[in-house]
Amino acid sequence: KEKNASEPEFLQAVEEVLESLRPVIDANEELYRKNAILERITEPDRQIMFRVPWVDDNGQVQVNRGYRVQFNNAIGPYKGGLRLHPSVNLGIIKFLGFEQIFKNSLTTLPIGGGKGGSDFDPKGKSDREIMAFCQSFMTELSKYIGADVDVPAGDIGTGAREIGFMFGQFKRIRGSFEGVLTGKGLTYGGSLARTQATGYGLLYLTNALWKDHGMSLEGKTAAVSGSGNVAIYAIEKAQQLGVKVVTCSDSTGWIYDPEGIDVALLKEVKEVKRARLTEYAAAKPSAEYHAKQNGEHGVWQYKVDLALPCATQNELDIEDAKMLVANGVTSVTEGANMPTTLEATKYLQESGVLFVGGKAANAGGVATSALEMSQNSERLHWTFEEVDGKLKGIMETIYANISDAAKRYNATVGGQTDYVAGANIAGFEKVVDAMLAQGVC
Ligand code: NDP
Repeated sequence: KEKNASEPEFLQAVEEVLESLRPVIDANEELYRKNAILERITEPDRQIMFRVPWVDDNGQVQVNRGYRVQFNNAIGPYKGGLRLHPSVNLGIIKFLGFEQIFKNSLTTLPIGGGKGGSDFDPKGKSDREIMAFCQSFMTELSKYIGADVDVPAGDIGTGAREIGFMFGQFKRIRGSFEGVLTGKGLTYGGSLARTQATGYGLLYLTNALWKDHGMSLEGKTAAVSGSGNVAIYAIEKAQQLGVKVVTCSDSTGWIYDPEGIDVALLKEVKEVKRARLTEYAAAKPSAEYHAKQNGEHGVWQYKVDLALPCATQNELDIEDAKMLVANGVTSVTEGANMPTTLEATKYLQESGVLFVGGKAANAGGVATSALEMSQNSERLHWTFEEVDGKLKGIMETIYANISDAAKRYNATVGGQTDYVAGANIAGFEKVVDAMLAQGVC
């Protein structure tokens, strides 16, 4: 704690994960102590910090700070996104890298945990400025990464454009065309179905959860929040599984459409026109548009069977959770990262709602990035159906593994399996097994 006192987000993440791992730690106390497992797993292999100088459109030199935390490569090359946002600092990158170890382990694929980024703010920058930043960032980062070493990906602020510029610079410096980044364009090594993966994966896992409890999604009603990449493809797959999705939202308001969201129209508004949801409501007579006001329940006020938070962190609070429970919700499965506050999570779980956190439920995105790495290694492209089929299998296996891990350690809450503990346990066990097998390193 003292060593990391200036990193509150990292300390909080470690405390939360270790708390949910208590049954495993207690059961293996001597083995873990002798091998310093907890000390080793909470200390990154290395953390790299570097200067990123670039020239803006006025000819002024700007300086940002770049980070890459290579946390743990016990089960495969480091893997995790690059976040470009003014709020980025070492503590945040460490916290994200630590969580990534367990999420990546859960995917069942051979990828370790890492994270990186910069305090650079891409908002309002020209394409030339973005390229100048990305090239400078990669000039330094290229010394530490590689297809078998560390494979960064996109994250907040790092999309297809930034990945393209960084890939180009890596290739230029190292002279090597390799799968060193994921989230690449389809013409130079990207994977089909990556766009759909997180949303589709969320529904494959939710479907497995319902089936395991002897229920079917067919004919059920869902509330979805967000209208970005995860939300759109969650809605699309939910509808394919026979679910009526009645809501979606953005940062300024939400749609309630009792006839069910028209996903083609939503894609047209959000992906093509990049417009607001008011345009959706204008084109669909059955849809109500509500401007967001503080203290309102937004998409969580309706009577639905499943809730799929797919927008942003802390968007489902305790009052929303009470509303969902009062309306008889059966499951809450997270498409976004940490959309449910800790208090709301506890309330939902204690009320007997089936709750699966983002670490497991939205792992379809990183799993498909690992499939991109496999295709790059083989120098082959798989069809959409092939990638989608593998994604479905992976999400079903993740569900089976978290459920099994929770049951082995009697982790229950509110009379239901504690899938949050199950996810941490299943991810942790595999990494620890590999660490023990590889000796003191
Ligand atoms: P996008 O930027 O594509 O979409 C985010 C959506 O959430 C937008 O519709 C945005 O609205 C909305 N939103 C943002 N803030 C709020 C708010 N305060 N209230 C309501 N809506 C809000 O992001 P993604 O869909 O890619 O990601 C969503 C979440 O899923 C994030 O937490 C991300 O970390 C997580 N995630 C994403 C993965 C992926 O593969 N894309 C993988 C794993 C996790 P607006 O249009 O107004 O900004």
